[in-house]
Amino acid sequence: MDQISNGIWLKRGNTNVGLIKCDGKRYLIDTGSSEKFAKSLSEEIGNVDFVLNTHSHADHIQGNHLFASMGARIYADDLEMVFIEKPFMESFYLYGANPPRVLEASFFKAKSSAIRSFQDEKWPSDMEFVQLNGHSPGMTGVKFGDVLFCGDAYFGQEIIQKYTYPYLVDAKVFLDSLEKVTETNADFYVPSHGDPKDDPSKDIKATREALMDFVKITFDTLTLPRSVEEICFEIAESKNLHLNSGTFYLFRSFESAILAYLEEKAEIVNVSYGKWQKK
Ligand SMILES: [Zn+2]
Repeated sequence: MDQISNGIWLKRGNTNVGLIKCDGKRYLIDTGSSEKFAKSLSEEIGNVDFVLNTHSHADHIQGNHLFASMGARIYADDLEMVFIEKPFMESFYLYGANPPRVLEASFFKAKSSAIRSFQDEKWPSDMEFVQLNGHSPGMTGVKFGDVLFCGDAYFGQEIIQKYTYPYLVDAKVFLDSLEKVTETNADFYVPSHGDPKDDPSKDIKATREALMDFVKITFDTLTLPRSVEEICFEIAESKNLHLNSGTFYLFRSFESAILAYLEEKAEIVNVSYGKWQKK
């Protein structure tokens, strides 16, 4: 791990992971995107007292099971807890019913671990939990001293370039959270995916522009009534997105959030049986 500030360390990976040492306790922020990563991390740092999950997505909690087995207590926002304790719920919500086999893969589903609420513990006075919802229902940033661990509130520019769209479940709240990151008075910002920076404004701008681009092209496809699946196929083709049978459900979830956002702005209407059209 690399020390990034007083009492704060960072381990870079597909999902960046933070370590805070304070008053003789050790706090791990997320546990990595694979069990292999978590194992090597545990060999490097040993056990921790607390794991703070920014949110429940599988690529942030793959090491929960391992650190829990070594004695760590795992914490998350109330709205994320059920997905961590019952990982089946992650694939269940993406599919909308008992999920097909493709959503049973570890990319979507980590091992279960017992989970506690952030609200049920007394935290050090220098530690602050910042609600950065939108990417997931209870996405939480962790600020300690001058460093803000941002989770998936925004993505590095190179990540946006690679994956094209910023996954989210609530576009309006996600946009509000981008503002909130900007307004948070930190000296160093650590996104879970991308490079940590003292000024994340370019990454935040790239994240916002990518989202607004998808809002626009989604709106543009709705000259005729279309279902979310039809919209997904059309946009995936025009943007050259390489979706497999599993990541299709992630993209459908993202597009569903965009449609609800456009409906809230009174720009589109749900005309019949799940089909959408410009107002
Ligand atoms: Zn995520």
